[in-house]
Amino acid sequence: MIYVIGHKNPDTDSICSAIGYAAFKKALTGQDYKAARAGDLNPETEFVLKHVGLETPELLPSAAGKDVILVDHNEVAQATDDIADAHILEILDHHKIGDVQTNEPIYFRAMPVGCTATIVYLHFKENNIEFDKATAGALCSAILSDTLAFRSPTCTDLDVEAANAYAEAAGIEDIQAYAKEMFKAGSELAGKSPKEILYMDFKKFTAGNTTYGVGQVTSMDEDELSELAKTMNDYIHESFSEHGCDMLFFLLTNILDESSEMVFAGEGADEVVKKAFTSSEEGRTYLKGVVSRKKQVVPPITEALS
Ligand code: MG
Ligand code: MG
Ligand code: MG
Repeated sequence: MIYVIGHKNPDTDSICSAIGYAAFKKALTGQDYKAARAGDLNPETEFVLKHVGLETPELLPSAAGKDVILVDHNEVAQATDDIADAHILEILDHHKIGDVQTNEPIYFRAMPVGCTATIVYLHFKENNIEFDKATAGALCSAILSDTLAFRSPTCTDLDVEAANAYAEAAGIEDIQAYAKEMFKAGSELAGKSPKEILYMDFKKFTAGNTTYGVGQVTSMDEDELSELAKTMNDYIHESFSEHGCDMLFFLLTNILDESSEMVFAGEGADEVVKKAFTSSEEGRTYLKGVVSRKKQVVPPITEALS
């Protein structure tokens, strides 16, 4: 048995490229290759495997004495335990060359692309092997995850080509819509109450006689953020007296768009926002280019209050 395994704290690429490359090697050689994982799945990867209908790979807590192929990493610190005592047969990666060592020559394919699943795609293509629907769906998801649906500066034309080929085989018609669904499922905001979301990252400040609180969440999902803005606006108004602040501000930061929507409550908060920022409408404001509470939000609010 040969295990194909990604890094610890596995992301979608580490899991899905292990599945995809194991499927490729099996199809190519007829030998037994098995995808494994070096840790628990994150919510995004859980969504992906369920969505495409694939089983969670087996946990391999120690590589001692095992035949392994590494995907999506080549650093000892990131590898499953006892990697020095494993027999490493191959490495497929898109990171800088690290410190994994072998006793003999191996197949080592490292490419500066956005995702390991793109390198897996080249193996299928170069050998004229077709990928099945579920595997293609998993590999497409990995590329969307690693490249932030093609928005990351690490994304190359080859990543886009691979993702499109996988999407076609997987029957994913609208890649961006699917990516949104996946990012939403993977969001740390899912399943949390408004109160939990307010206090996930919340700080209190004092300016003159005014105590104010500023909470912040970040997401890549525009739809998730605009829904949440309404929920949080209602929540901070309804629960205002519970928080022990004269004013409450809550930032919903869109990482991709490099902007924040801010909702706020408290007597005089409206005027403070008007003074501190360019515009505000009915207790909400859109702040283009604002992502940092520390540098871009607290100083102008403090200034406006004094
Ligand atoms: Mg990774
Ligand atoms: Mg990766
Ligand atoms: Mg990643």
